[in-house]
Amino acid sequence: MSRAAPHVTHEVLNQVPPLAGYDVADDPALAEALRQEAPRQASDTEGWVRELHQLGQRAGSAQTQELARLANEHPPVLRTHDSRGNRIDEVEFHPAWHELMETAVGHGLHAAPWLDGTPGAHVTRAAEFYVWAQAEAGHGCPISMTYAAVPALRHEPRLAERFGQLLGSRTYDPGLRVPEGKAGLLAGMAMTEKQGGSDVRANTTRAVPAGDGYQLTGHKWFCSAPMCDLFLVLAQAPEGLSCFLLPRVLPDGTRNSMRLQRLKDKLGNRSNASSEVEYDGAFAWLVGEPGRGVTTIIDMVSATRLDCVLGSAAAIRQACVTAIHYTSIRRAFGAALATQPLMVSVLADLALESQAATTLAMRLAGAADRAARGDAGELALLRLALPAAKYWVCKRTPMAVGEALECLGGNGYVEESGLPRLYRDAPLNSVWEGSGNVTALDVLRALARSPGSADALLAEIDLAADADRRLDAAAARLRRELKEAVAAGTEAQHRARRLAGLVAATLQASLLVRHAPGAVADAFCASRLHPGAAGSGPGTPFGTLPDGLDLGPIVARSSPATDCG
Ligand SMILES: Cc1cc2nc3c(=O)[nH]c(=O)nc-3n(C[C@H](O)[C@H](O)[C@H](O)COP(=O)(O)OP(=O)(O)OC[C@H]3O[C@@H](n4cnc5c(N)ncnc54)[C@H](O)[C@@H]3O)c2cc1C
Repeated sequence: MSRAAPHVTHEVLNQVPPLAGYDVADDPALAEALRQEAPRQASDTEGWVRELHQLGQRAGSAQTQELARLANEHPPVLRTHDSRGNRIDEVEFHPAWHELMETAVGHGLHAAPWLDGTPGAHVTRAAEFYVWAQAEAGHGCPISMTYAAVPALRHEPRLAERFGQLLGSRTYDPGLRVPEGKAGLLAGMAMTEKQGGSDVRANTTRAVPAGDGYQLTGHKWFCSAPMCDLFLVLAQAPEGLSCFLLPRVLPDGTRNSMRLQRLKDKLGNRSNASSEVEYDGAFAWLVGEPGRGVTTIIDMVSATRLDCVLGSAAAIRQACVTAIHYTSIRRAFGAALATQPLMVSVLADLALESQAATTLAMRLAGAADRAARGDAGELALLRLALPAAKYWVCKRTPMAVGEALECLGGNGYVEESGLPRLYRDAPLNSVWEGSGNVTALDVLRALARSPGSADALLAEIDLAADADRRLDAAAARLRRELKEAVAAGTEAQHRARRLAGLVAATLQASLLVRHAPGAVADAFCASRLHPGAAGSGPGTPFGTLPDGLDLGPIVARSSPATDCG
């Protein structure tokens, strides 16, 4: 029998090796921000900095990328009952999820900084969260919620004392058991109900006093990471909407009656479980004053919003380095794509977005660190700047990721490139913890309720006064618009997005003027601050930078240090 002779149909040419085996923490904008916000730790090059780079190496390794792929391609599975028909209400995760969680908890990315009195502890945690979020975003959800639960829990010192150490423990101990018997705990939050998530005052879940706590009856429409040990839950007590701490397992070892009805089939964030739950007389402890649930849980919301900004800055950075890596190697029309003028403009624009997002996110982490230690000025700055940044950076993320995806051409649209997952995940931070409109309206609320917040913001921006005339003009415009918004009160609602964007872009510009190389600050001011651009939309696509800018150093500053090309 004759056989076809072996033959080669073609040589594989001009394909780019995946970006792997690089140090995610090798990021000049991050390093500069650390020098500003946590100088002590940033100078500890043999200690903490070395650890950060070890985490960066792990985040950029092929092994971690494989864990991320597996955790997303094998999403969590709900097991409502055991083989004999008893309710168990458990979610089963792929081992890759647990491995990612173990690294995150082991590095204290959850609640560890609350146990650390060192100034800068929240900043270093923020840097590590930003680096590790580039490994896989979905598992960041329970990590962030655990970080954020602690300040809310402190409204009830007895409970903070009881669970604080375990929430900050660096041991990842999954599984439903009595909290005090575990080596480490994770916390979630449950506010959103079917009839409304933004307006939580409409919550219908009822809380009735019982023993040393309350019995909760009702439901939640979104409850992510339902295998957490503890949940901060809003429910209507006789005094009004109140905050509660609900354990999955009761002190006597029996399961609390929190029933998992379904897992959501989500656009992205697929490694993470988001459930619909019902409480059938579930036991919970009151946190804070009855009737003041929103005031209590707002501390948790604020900390998760910081993580939304950090997580979105991480996604923009990851997309940006992937695009730069690819286009540096891929050739078309006789030259590497990254050398061709129009692609340089796209890459530089993405790099600007990335560096500005990272710088702003880390500045806010510094403010959160100092505010946690009693700095009233930094707290005032956060009140206004955090919702503005949450609105702006999270809104810019899907656009930036979409543009980076296109830099890889058709390969970017294909799952194996990693960009489709990043793209699906990109809108999430804008949706949860206050969707775009709600966070923009929070900017107005901060202006009305915390009059010092506008002064704190303008004082921060003024630290860069007289260094760039475009920034000075933007600061003057912002000053005017803030004043007008205060005078207009609720009439200003329709322009809240524009104002929030203007706050964020002007603050970014001032930080870059003070701390970034001249080429970066110049291009940012030239492209983001003119009256038609700053904070307003829909905005032109990336890659439309004005003429006459020095783009090479901007792209170089965002290039991944890799030898895989
Ligand atoms: C993947 C994922 C995980 C989540 N996990 C959790 C969780 O663990 N716990 C939890 O409690 N929730 C969770 N959520 C829910 C999320 O926080 C809510 O979806 C969000 O707060 C919006 O609430 P809603 O869906 O009820 O929308 P609505 O409140 O119905 O809002 C719809 C739209 O109207 C806008 N809007 C609302 N009010 C105004 C206004 N006054 N003016 C103008 N526009 C307005 C909003 O910005 C939004 O765009 C999760 C959501 C997602 C997608």
